[in-house]
Amino acid sequence: MAKPIFVLHKHAATRLHYDFRLEIGGALASWAVPKGPSMDTSAKRLAVRVEDHPLEYADFEGVIPEGEYGGGTVVVWDAGPYRSLVRDDGETLAIGDALERGQAEVWLEGRKLRGGFALVHARPGGDDDAWLLVKMKDEGADARRNPVSTEPESVLSGRTLAEVARDAADDADDG
Ligand code: MN
Repeated sequence: MAKPIFVLHKHAATRLHYDFRLEIGGALASWAVPKGPSMDTSAKRLAVRVEDHPLEYADFEGVIPEGEYGGGTVVVWDAGPYRSLVRDDGETLAIGDALERGQAEVWLEGRKLRGGFALVHARPGGDDDAWLLVKMKDEGADARRNPVSTEPESVLSGRTLAEVARDAADDADDG
């Protein structure tokens, strides 16, 4: 079986944010991360749980029309396989079960993001949508590296948000 995938969509909607998505059971569990991920283990990034997206959405890049849900421009900022790092009685705990408990740890193998990331419910036992995304201590941790600002392009097409928006406008003119 193929490894499950993660995606980070960079999304210029009403506000710029990053949508962190994990393939779980045929869908994409999703969190909106206003500041994007950090490679600094001391940075706790707010990650607001939003509704699951269909797995087919993983490689979506383009413009969502204004007035529609999520209206704005989207690029695939990073993507790759991931695996659960959560152990329970010596077994790897399924990611969905770990999330149910309010704490999940995943190993990402993206082009920009590598290594362990923890997703922790901000209020353990609570049912609100606020989680925290935190880089775990490993060889991928690097407080000086900030791919959110230094590597803004899509890993699918190499385009920036502005280039994707311009290409979509050009296509609309042609059509
Ligand atoms: Mn979004």
